[in-house]
Amino acid sequence: MSQFVEEFMQKVKEKNPAQPEFHQAVEEVAESLALVLERYPEYRSEKILDRIVEPERVLIFRVPWLDDHHEIHINRGFRIEMNSAIGPYKGGLRFHPSVNLGILKFLAFEQVFKNSLTTLPMGGGKGGSDFDPKGKSRNEVMRFCQSFMTELFRHIGPDTDVPAGDIGVGGREIGFLFGQYKRLRNEFTGVLTGKGLDWGGSLIRPEATGYGAVYFAAEMLAHKNESLEGKVCLVSGSGNVAQYTIEKLLDLGAKAVTLSDSSGYIYDEKGIDRNKLSYVMELKNVKRGRIKEYADKFKEAVYTPVDPSKDHNPLWDHKAQCAFPSATQNEINKKDAENLIKNGVYVVSEGANMPTVKEGVKLFVDKGVLYGPGKAANAGGVAVSGLEMSQNSMRLPWTREEVDQRLQMIMKSIHKTCTDVMEKFGTPGNYVIGANIGGFLKVADAMIDQGLV
Ligand code: NDP
Repeated sequence: MSQFVEEFMQKVKEKNPAQPEFHQAVEEVAESLALVLERYPEYRSEKILDRIVEPERVLIFRVPWLDDHHEIHINRGFRIEMNSAIGPYKGGLRFHPSVNLGILKFLAFEQVFKNSLTTLPMGGGKGGSDFDPKGKSRNEVMRFCQSFMTELFRHIGPDTDVPAGDIGVGGREIGFLFGQYKRLRNEFTGVLTGKGLDWGGSLIRPEATGYGAVYFAAEMLAHKNESLEGKVCLVSGSGNVAQYTIEKLLDLGAKAVTLSDSSGYIYDEKGIDRNKLSYVMELKNVKRGRIKEYADKFKEAVYTPVDPSKDHNPLWDHKAQCAFPSATQNEINKKDAENLIKNGVYVVSEGANMPTVKEGVKLFVDKGVLYGPGKAANAGGVAVSGLEMSQNSMRLPWTREEVDQRLQMIMKSIHKTCTDVMEKFGTPGNYVIGANIGGFLKVADAMIDQGLV
């Protein structure tokens, strides 16, 4: 680490104590940007790095709600409005008991660069709550969403801040949030994305993050004159991103053999085919069951529960060529990264945000793995959210083919931005530098254009 980055990180840590995920995300970007700051001193004199790590606004609020037994619960709500240099704040809402200020700041920070890479005019934001939707009834989830929006509505708007889904926030929750916003404001606008198709949603939005992560992997392989056809793939998670990653892998002739949730994972050597995938979609999206049930239904699959005493995740210890981490942050530790490489994995495309620890990323880059970091590889979700905003503004929906074509174009363009940066800065094959610098430049220039605000 250069002295400049070391001193900078010391300041960030002092000012933002007890936010390890935020430190991790900032450090990775700051290290990549050392090259830019050397070549273009105006970013240093304009203090762009100091400005970009400071959110424009942080909202923290109380979310009271009543469960089905009339017991009172109090959760904490957040919205981080990180950067609006290139467009309204845009980023998902996460409902998960692990949510805290540091995790949402890391996600909002990543979002700024990711949104810039999409080529669409969107700033960066993120929000959510420590509310756990697991085991809650539909009515409880609805009451929570209504209470959450009763505070959030005054801070967001179609030209100000446009939230979407993330972990624990899917179509059902977006519906409840949108209904309450509309009621409070008496306005039907594109204030949220990921809406239902009958009321302003975009075709392909549910599929977009998973499809995009696969398109990005395909693009990295195409650059080496290879394709995904016949490749064995490890996928983690079993939610929105994991499901549509597997659907697109099947379209492109690859074979996914794993899926997980926070209780354990399944390994299905024969491959998760379309029939098994539709079982998973019903299990997770309708019945809201656990992935263990997959192995009860399909006897050829093996279920392994999480064992916290292990120093690695056995999901990443199977023979394969590609990995699509699609669950959560830091789910690949250094040992997992070593296991992946040992087992023949040479393509990693991150559907999740920051799923690989810093030492794992270094290993992938040093060993020449085709490693697509989350802010590039999973940008397809927010890209189609951006397309949903365009369709809402025009009040005209596009066809499935049109949206999918635009998504493919955007993923290709993100890949090209990365390779152009890698070439310009003499770091071939390093997509971390490609994505960080590629995302940074547009935002930094817009910040300079708009003065000290
Ligand atoms: P979902 O809530 O649909 O699914 C999340 C999946 O990950 C579930 O299987 C969940 O298991 C598992 N999971 C969550 N937290 C943990 C944990 N701490 N340990 C182990 N497993 C966990 O979320 P998404 O699929 O939407 O999001 C997955 C990842 O993709 C996240 O990192 C998100 O930020 C990222 N992402 C999502 C986008 C989107 O459009 N949805 C866009 C870009 C990135 P369980 O049910 O047991 O909790």
